[in-house]
Amino acid sequence: MKYIGFKKEITTGRYLDPFNGFQPKEITIELRYDETTGVACRILPYRMRLSQKPDLNAYLEKSPESLCPFCSSLFDKTTPKFPPDISPEGKFRHGNAYLFPNAFPYDQSNTVAVLSSRHMIPMNELTPQTMRDGFSVCLDYFHRIAELNLGYKYCSINWNYMPPAGGGLIHPHLQTIAGQKPTNFMQRLIASAQNYAAAADGGNLWRNLIIFEKEAQERFIANTGTITWLASFAPKGMAGEIDFIFQDKTSIFDLTEANYEEFLEGLSRTFSYLYLNNFMSFNLTLYAPMTNDRNLWVQGKLVPRFEINPLGTSDLNYFEKLHNEIICPVVPEQLCKELQPYFA
Ligand SMILES: [Zn+2]
Repeated sequence: MKYIGFKKEITTGRYLDPFNGFQPKEITIELRYDETTGVACRILPYRMRLSQKPDLNAYLEKSPESLCPFCSSLFDKTTPKFPPDISPEGKFRHGNAYLFPNAFPYDQSNTVAVLSSRHMIPMNELTPQTMRDGFSVCLDYFHRIAELNLGYKYCSINWNYMPPAGGGLIHPHLQTIAGQKPTNFMQRLIASAQNYAAAADGGNLWRNLIIFEKEAQERFIANTGTITWLASFAPKGMAGEIDFIFQDKTSIFDLTEANYEEFLEGLSRTFSYLYLNNFMSFNLTLYAPMTNDRNLWVQGKLVPRFEINPLGTSDLNYFEKLHNEIICPVVPEQLCKELQPYFA
């Protein structure tokens, strides 16, 4: 089996259990570290379940269509435009989706893509059909800025779906980032692949990761053609993480229309699973080079997000924020088993 830097250690928590006559109780905690991503996390052996679906109407009440800058009555008046050298129309349009500059940019090129004029699309209605135009307009934009030769080398498509994931508006929208330099985490992935290739027994990290996971049969959710879907060994979120890797695709422009359909289909299956398990929020990123780079196969991550009721407690805490470790009460191997039937 190919070497992949997954590290695991076991530690045990002990206490006298108040719910069992103060008898001794032991909890096994798995400390995991992924050398590729640099993510450290602690897998707890009990399965976290969300007992009920959050009430979307509460969001709708606080954020009605009439106040939404992405809904049609305000859209033209309140959303930024591109200068004519980038887009003569001011905005990119693909079917029902529009893309325009972010009014609060994080980078030289940071855009917002509104999926459609629909103010709210519940997670179970995030189908290939409702997502297609949104992702397509991001690609149209990447093609345009590649044409302009601005020296952009890396890009990403990002999604904060709903407020628990940092979504400031419930109206579904993606964000793109393109830059001469990769983001910090993308740089980590690239450096890991470079180091891996330079090691004695070398090879392509992404190819070997897929082979490793396929042979291990623990976190390998499915291969849907070009894309391999994995439950991450060391998740970046409390509710686990789903990864997708596009085999041998070393630039965003290598992806065919069929690849996008395959991607949207896989996402939609994942959303069906999450919806049935009472999730209604997630972060998603698709990372890609804009000029071919064998150290970064096009790939992405999806992290389900949630609030803990009754207080609406955040799923981020000091452990993640200030110790760079994630407490994960979802066992990745179990998450994989639960997702597999959705891809069958
Ligand atoms: Zn809206």
